[in-house]
Amino acid sequence: MKPSFRILKTVGKARLGQLLTAHGVIETPSFFFCATKAALKGADLQTLHRVQTPVLLANTYHLMLQPGAPRIAAAGGLQGFMGWKGPTFTDSGGYQIFSLGHGSVHEELKGKSRPQGRLKITEEGAFFYSYRDGSPWYLSAEKSIEVQQALGADCIFTLDECTPFHVSTEYTAQAMRRSHRWAQRCLDAFNDPTAQYHRSYQGLYGISQGGIYPELRQESTEFLNQTEFFGHGIGGSLGTCKTQMYEVVESALQGLCPERPIHLLGIGGIEDILYGVSQGIDTFDCVAPTRLGRHGGALIRPYYWQTALEPFHPRESINLLKACFTEDDRPIDDQCLCPTCQNHSRAYLHHLFKAKESTGGTLLVTHNMFFMNQLMKEIRQAIEQENLEVLSKKWLARLA
Ligand SMILES: [Zn+2]
Repeated sequence: MKPSFRILKTVGKARLGQLLTAHGVIETPSFFFCATKAALKGADLQTLHRVQTPVLLANTYHLMLQPGAPRIAAAGGLQGFMGWKGPTFTDSGGYQIFSLGHGSVHEELKGKSRPQGRLKITEEGAFFYSYRDGSPWYLSAEKSIEVQQALGADCIFTLDECTPFHVSTEYTAQAMRRSHRWAQRCLDAFNDPTAQYHRSYQGLYGISQGGIYPELRQESTEFLNQTEFFGHGIGGSLGTCKTQMYEVVESALQGLCPERPIHLLGIGGIEDILYGVSQGIDTFDCVAPTRLGRHGGALIRPYYWQTALEPFHPRESINLLKACFTEDDRPIDDQCLCPTCQNHSRAYLHHLFKAKESTGGTLLVTHNMFFMNQLMKEIRQAIEQENLEVLSKKWLARLA
C-alpha cells in the first residue's frame, strides 16, 4: 500500500490530517523524533510506546556508513532491524554530507572555519570522506534512493544540497537547480520497479530549496508542484534568526501544492512549531528535545517557568543542573502526566546529573518526548476546535 495523506480540517492555513502508511497512521500535525543511528538515544522501545511516539526518523548518512544498508535490508529493513513496528522516515543523507563541507549554521554564526577538501560536489553527486575512518564515499541521487529503499522507511527524501547561509545568491540558485535535477533523478530511480530494493509501500518527498531568497523559493515551488512527489520538505538555509526563518518558511509555502503533506526539516522549538502549524506545516523533526534531555534540559511550557528562586522567564526549557533545583521537591511540571513527573522531583533529577547517573538523561528524555507528543496532541485538538490562536497564547505566555 502506497502512503496517502488526507486533510480532515483546515482552519486558516493550519491543517488537521492523517498520513496513512503501511506501518500505521500518523495524525498530523506531528513531531518526529530522530532515531539517527536506528536508535533513540536515551529511550528504548518500551519508552517510545509509553510516551506514545507515533513515528521515527532515521538517518541515511550514518546508517549507510554503519552498519551499511544491505545489513539492514537483510534484517527486514528498519522495522525488522530495530524491532520498531510503527511508521518511519529517512532523510536523504545530504544534510550531513554537505554540512561536513559547508559547516553547520551554528558553526557559521560562531565564525568557525570550514574543513577544506573533504567534500566535492559534481553534477553526478557528492564525494566525501567517512567521519568514522576517513574512507572515501560517493552519494548520487540514485544511490541515495537505493540506500533509502534498502532501509525501507515508509517515507523517504530526495537528495539535495543544503547550501549554507553565507553563500551568494548565484551559488544558492545554481545549487538549487542542481538539487532539482537530482530530485528528478531520485524520482526516476524511485519509480523503477526493477531496482534491487524497490518497495511499493514507500512515498517520496521532494525538498524546497532556494535559501533565504523568495524568488528562488518560488522557482523551487514551481518545480515541486509540477513533479509527482508524494510530499514536500522545506529545507536549505532558513536564515539566522527567528524573524528571517518565519519569512523564509512563508515564502517556501506560498503556492505549494496544498494536497500533499509538508515537512519542515530540522525544526523543533515550541514557538517555531506553533508558528509552522499556523502556516500549514504538517510534520516536523529535530534532535533538540532528546539531546536537550540527555544534557539536563527539561522542556516546559514557557509560561510555567516561575519559581521563587528565579524571576519569570519565558524560555522553553529549564536546566536541571542549576543549583536552584538542589532542594526543589516539585516535579518538572506538576500538570505533566509522564512517568518522570509522576515519580520524581527536580531535586532528584538535579542530583542524578550531578552524580553523573545516566538514569537522569533517560528520565529527562522520557519527559521531553512525552511533552512534545502532548504538545502535538493539544495542537491537533485546537485545530479541531478552531482555537489554535488561544492555545499558542497559552503556551507562549504572550499575554502581556
Ligand atoms: Zn513530565
